[in-house]
Amino acid sequence: DLLAVNSRLKEQIDNAAQIKAANFNLKPPIDATKEQSSKLLLHYQPIISLSTGKITGFEALVRLWHPQRGMVSPSDFIPVAEETNLIMPLGAWVLQEACRQLQIWNLTYPGLTISVNISGKQFSQPDLVAQIKQILQNTNLSADQLKLEITESVIMENAESATAMLEQLKNLGVQLSIDDFGTGYSSLSYLHRFPIDTLKVDRSFVSRMSIDGNNWKIVQSIITLAHTMRMDVTAEGVETVNQLEQLRALECEQGQGYFFSKPLDIEAASQFLDKGTQW
Ligand code: C2E
Ligand code: MG
Ligand code: MG
Ligand code: MG
Repeated sequence: DLLAVNSRLKEQIDNAAQIKAANFNLKPPIDATKEQSSKLLLHYQPIISLSTGKITGFEALVRLWHPQRGMVSPSDFIPVAEETNLIMPLGAWVLQEACRQLQIWNLTYPGLTISVNISGKQFSQPDLVAQIKQILQNTNLSADQLKLEITESVIMENAESATAMLEQLKNLGVQLSIDDFGTGYSSLSYLHRFPIDTLKVDRSFVSRMSIDGNNWKIVQSIITLAHTMRMDVTAEGVETVNQLEQLRALECEQGQGYFFSKPLDIEAASQFLDKGTQW
């Protein structure tokens, strides 16, 4: 079954690679539910500034619409794409599509950020820097509107070469986040040398912080550690007003989670912006 998804995935990726620069201003006709073949699409989850209560940007999260299986979660097909190297064209498509969408939102809501997940193989791709540079040029975004999310484990796997890649990316002017922080093994001697802007506290700590004092202390420690290193913090998986209040008290900069909004399709994300809710 996965093999079938995989070959469809390849088809979609091949199609996506044919998107021309000339189409950059067009809103893509995404109504996946009416499609006969499988389709890659992006959902967008709002990220909220906890000091202003307003949206600062979105995280782009890839989905695969499969005519028989419905919406396939990235945790099911990203590992397959990694194994088969399809992650290269898939990752390039995600970057291009996310930046192109932010270019559209820039017209009405200028200055938001778009966060894009970068997989392990993508991160060790020698031409990643050139690829991102090209996409930034094509979409006319300010480089700091793009935020790359790399997991703690990918960075720490080879901290030496990761430092060099992170520095090259930082030189482009993009922002860098460590994703799922706290789930891997971080060497503090490296952490302070990485040019990282944001630590994203893993959802597993946030989800238990109101009911378990030890988790509250872990979140507190991560926030203190980040601030010491001049990084800001985004809490993942904020689901309750209780968690929001605790995070505010800890001076956590940003929050993301079902309490604010689930990941949304383009239409719903645009409506979210129009509503202008402030927390
Ligand atoms: P992630 O980067 O840590 O993304 C956050 C995940 O947590 C998303 O799952 C999101 O839907 C979910 N989430 C957000 N708020 C809440 C909440 O309040 N409660 C709960 N229970 N969950 C919440 P999703 O979209 O299924 O993505 C799973 C993972 O797949 C991502 O974790 C990321 O590692 C990976 N992924 C997604 N899109 C891409 C992509 O374009 N490229 C790569 N390489 N990986 C991706
Ligand atoms: Mg992420
Ligand atoms: Mg994460
Ligand atoms: Mg996570």
